[in-house]
Formats: sequence, structure tokens, C-alpha cells
Amino acid sequence: MIKKIKSLFFINEEKIDKFEIFFDFIKKYVQKNYPKINFDFSNINRFKNELKVDVQKSLFVEYLVKQFIEFDYKKITQNSVKRELTWEGYGVNSLPNLRLPHDFSRRKELVFYRDKSTCNRCGTVMERLSQASFCFVQEIEDGGGYNIENIILLCSSCNQVVNNFKENYNEMELIFRDKLYEFIS
Ligand SMILES: [Zn+2]
Repeated sequence: MIKKIKSLFFINEEKIDKFEIFFDFIKKYVQKNYPKINFDFSNINRFKNELKVDVQKSLFVEYLVKQFIEFDYKKITQNSVKRELTWEGYGVNSLPNLRLPHDFSRRKELVFYRDKSTCNRCGTVMERLSQASFCFVQEIEDGGGYNIENIILLCSSCNQVVNNFKENYNEMELIFRDKLYEFIS
């Protein structure tokens, strides 16, 4: 009997221990890689009621995904850059126009450089311009221009939240979620 209790006790210890390690690791990971999102970790003990560690981990990940999606974000006018960094025709091509200006890719490069490849919403740092998404502070349809103060740099996950929001969070394809699930073995 004692043996049995002991074995149960150890299984339980092991289970909690594994979740604790996972929890600490993920906490540090998201705070380092998504520094602008104020994640709340105060209410995680409830996941420990789940019997299976994998279920605990998945619930914890989904809890963070929910916080990532629901993080309150407001689009505001972005920084200017030194005039020397712009080019001939920059001003004229900045004017509101439903057609993208021919120098838009150059504008994207400049915004990526201006923001040090950092997502404006979550603070994650992107490795390449091809990973970046962009949106406008004031939409072009609403009279916004292509001047770089009106262009916001977003990571792909934040772009999904800002521009492709779905009521059912499971339908949202987020690299943020994929990355966290990679840590569940
Ligand atoms: Zn982001």
C-alpha cells in the first residue's frame, strides 16, 4: 500500500516538475521574444488540475495565444526618417492613391530599417524583410498616404490579429502559436 502511495506520489511530483520546467521556459521565451505583450502568468495553477502534462502544456499555450490575440493595440503615427534617406519622387508618391506607388517595396525596406526589424505590436524581431507585414495607420481608402509615418511594421502573427481577425481563435494561423507548440514534445 505504502509502495503504491509512494509511486503515485512520485508520478505526481514528476508531472508537476515537468510542467514547472516547461512553464518557466515558455515564460522566459515569450517575455524575451514578444516583449511588448504584457503576458499575465498569475493564473496558471489551474492547469495543474489536468492529469496529463501534455494537456497542461497545450492549455497553457492556448492561454498565451488568447492573451497574444487580445492584447490591446492602437495604431499610431510612426516615426519619420532623415530626409537623406528618401529619394526623388518620394513626396509625390506618398500622396493618397488607391494604386500602390511603384516605390512601395523601397518604402517597406525603409520602414524595416527604421524599426530595426521589430514588430510594432508585439516587439518580436524579424530576421528578414520577407517575414514582415505592413499596415497603414490611416487606411488608404480613408485618405491615408504612403508616407512612411503612415506605415506600420508588423510580424506575420500580429498582421493576422490586426488585419485578419477571426472570432474563433483556432482558425487564426499564428506563427506565435506554432512556435510555442514546437516546444511541446
Ligand atoms: Zn508582432
